Amino acid sequence: MTTNSAQVTIFPPIDIAFLYKVNKIIGESKDVHSAMDALVPVIRPYFIFDNVVLFLVDPLTLNLEVAFAKATGRGRSAEADVAWGEIIGSQVVETRRVILQEPVDSIETDRLRRPHTLGLPLLEKSEVLGAIIFIRFGSPPFTPDQTVFAEFLTDHLAVLVARDKLIKENSRLEFQYRTFQVQEDFISTLSHELRTPLGYIKGYSTTLLRTDANWDDKARQEFLTIIDQETDRLEDLLNNLLDSAKLQSGMIMMDFQVVRLDALVKDVIIRAQLHNQDQVFQIEMPDTLGPIHADPGRLAQVLENLVNNAIKYAPGSPVIIRISVVPDGITLEVIDKGAGIPEKYQSKIFDRFFRIPDQISVAHGSGLGLFICKQIVQAHGGKLQLTSRVGEGSSFRIFLPTQP
Ligand code: ADP
Repeated sequence: MTTNSAQVTIFPPIDIAFLYKVNKIIGESKDVHSAMDALVPVIRPYFIFDNVVLFLVDPLTLNLEVAFAKATGRGRSAEADVAWGEIIGSQVVETRRVILQEPVDSIETDRLRRPHTLGLPLLEKSEVLGAIIFIRFGSPPFTPDQTVFAEFLTDHLAVLVARDKLIKENSRLEFQYRTFQVQEDFISTLSHELRTPLGYIKGYSTTLLRTDANWDDKARQEFLTIIDQETDRLEDLLNNLLDSAKLQSGMIMMDFQVVRLDALVKDVIIRAQLHNQDQVFQIEMPDTLGPIHADPGRLAQVLENLVNNAIKYAPGSPVIIRISVVPDGITLEVIDKGAGIPEKYQSKIFDRFFRIPDQISVAHGSGLGLFICKQIVQAHGGKLQLTSRVGEGSSFRIFLPTQP
């Protein structure tokens, strides 16, 4: 049966105290569930019910989902668990009307088998957001006045549900927007990073192939060196891209072996010195250093990246590599006395493709290196952390546990 609520007056009276409490709860609750939790004890002195259920329409599947359900009073018994008004909930949503269902069997003495069910739609403009169901076991039945009272509450709840929906929709849009932005940044970084070395390679090879010019040995050697270096850069970029894709999908395998860290560090520094003749390196390590378990190739890759970053982003500063023995493992720090990393960027520095905006023109890069380093260190059961102060420099600290 449906009710016509227009001809009745509101009883029990909705006084100022009640209105104030309801509005405060609706205004201050962080979501629908906590609002319902706070509303139930406020409503019950005015409007007796045993069970209350709030169904919301899932915007994607259009199914009804239970957003809140509470058994109070007589409804708390186990038998009452079945009486949650799903069918009426669907009917209310379908018809968008208030539905009051009275018990069919008037001679049934068990009041739990004689539920009075009042279902009301939550409406926002032309859209039905869900339904609220009040169940009262046994007498007295819901009166028309009480239905109006319930409608008043439902209208207030609809505001809250609509607000919740808007917040969820906004965060979904924000997530999509951010994903879109990351993809945009990725494409622009990548196309720039690919285009620059390709431009050099193409330019210098075309120049060398010209038949109308004669290049002396020195010039030819210079052009070929540039082609060689730019090819290396392209290869590095492709390797980084492949590594980061594999690391993200958990497809990278570590080849753990017994590793002598002092030898590994020295190797990396010798290679770095070869490419940066004037760079000052300082190695600080304890006199005795036991072997560790690690993937030597991957660990060298991490160290190389950190050392190269220090050279690139802290030009003119010595690079200090400090190994220390700590409880349960060792730490390996790469320290520079460069410009440092502003605090606002420190939490983003290990994100894929992140580069400090002011440094993009300072040196080539893709923003993949530190992301890869962190993943590799974590695959060793370790940690990679940054400490940095603007004007003083940066320290990237790797902790590796004795047993990965
Ligand atoms: P890439 O060097 O290819 O840009 P990384 O992931 O290795 O990528 O580094 C990300 C960013 O972190 C760099 O672009 C740079 O802005 C910043 N950065 C890394 N190391 C340092 C450092 N030692 N000092 C200052 N900034 C650094």
